[in-house]
Amino acid sequence: MGGWVWEIKHWLKIGAGCDCLQLSDIIRKRSIMHQAMLYEKLPNSRVRCGICQWRCNIAPGKFGVCRVYQNRDGTLYNLNYAKASSVAVDPIEKKPLFHFFPGSLAFSIGGWGCNFHCQDCQNWEIACPADNEPWLNSQEVPPETAVELAKAHNCQGIAWTYNEPSIWFEYTLDSAKLAKRNNLYTVYVTNGYLTPEALDTIGPYLDAWRVDIKGFSDSLYQKLAKINRWRGILEVAKRAKDKWNMHVEVVTNIIPTMNDDDDQLNSIACWIREELGELTPWHVTRFYPHYNMTGLPPTPISTLEHAFEIGKKAGLKFVYAGNVPGHSSESTVCYNCGKTVARRLGYQTEVVGLEGSKCRFCGAELNFRGGGSKEGVK
Ligand code: SF4
Repeated sequence: MGGWVWEIKHWLKIGAGCDCLQLSDIIRKRSIMHQAMLYEKLPNSRVRCGICQWRCNIAPGKFGVCRVYQNRDGTLYNLNYAKASSVAVDPIEKKPLFHFFPGSLAFSIGGWGCNFHCQDCQNWEIACPADNEPWLNSQEVPPETAVELAKAHNCQGIAWTYNEPSIWFEYTLDSAKLAKRNNLYTVYVTNGYLTPEALDTIGPYLDAWRVDIKGFSDSLYQKLAKINRWRGILEVAKRAKDKWNMHVEVVTNIIPTMNDDDDQLNSIACWIREELGELTPWHVTRFYPHYNMTGLPPTPISTLEHAFEIGKKAGLKFVYAGNVPGHSSESTVCYNCGKTVARRLGYQTEVVGLEGSKCRFCGAELNFRGGGSKEGVK
């Protein structure tokens, strides 16, 4: 259970310790039906959802793949608006985002369900819950409350994380708009399967896109996540950067025998370099056995270090081995002068050599945002 039980406990701690809010005010047990923003009405009261790339065609009374959008009499509703499964105050490095407001705290919030069904899911209790409607007994955190809690706990921004943020899209959009009005940064920690039109809807209010690229083959995405058209993830990540000027960082969780071959790792690294740029951080993280993949061992450190080398050889300037506290690749070293600009140990970060987005020692561009000012944030 690890992660999310801790998050819930932490949530209770936040609520109890917050001067501006009584816990009873913010915990309301009920279902919140919210009409979906992006869908098309079809003949026979069917609807087609436009939020993620499944583009579910849903009959009356039925749900989409994520099981949180339902067609009720020809109208598509989201059923878990503002219903949180997990809330915590996290270092931004935990997302992981290493080049975005280093050392800051992010008010981190997750909902229920997922549009993927990854066999290695670390948060499967909330992403693939056994209950049909787990949100009925969960805390309600309206956008106003999320922003108040973020400010009350000295967070510089809000991150939608722990489960896939796009499947409570309307909630994240309302929250992002309000966060921007309150001078907070906004982050999606995502599997990247949002449609281009959904991205264009929330794009003006999102600052960072922390996206998984799980592998680089049809068979990997099919086997791991039951996704066929995975290349749309790449297009949308590029669009987040090019069209909406978001800060993008990529994570690949390296799973033994699944995506640890040189072909896939090299293809991911080359794609990042070509399409997102050589200064884009790539996190190669250690897999631990979870959910339906308890039969595999944790990723050997030597495999992560091999992936690190592949990334560097492909021309990426910033490759980090993740889930290995104390690893030598944790800190950011300027590729030009070799000096350390951000020193990290686990989730502790000390910025020692940044001037805005650049190296303070030699002036090289290092693709940081919030490294001393709020430049590059909407
Ligand atoms: S969000 Fe995705 S999975 Fe859910 S109903 Fe819409 S298209 Fe289907």
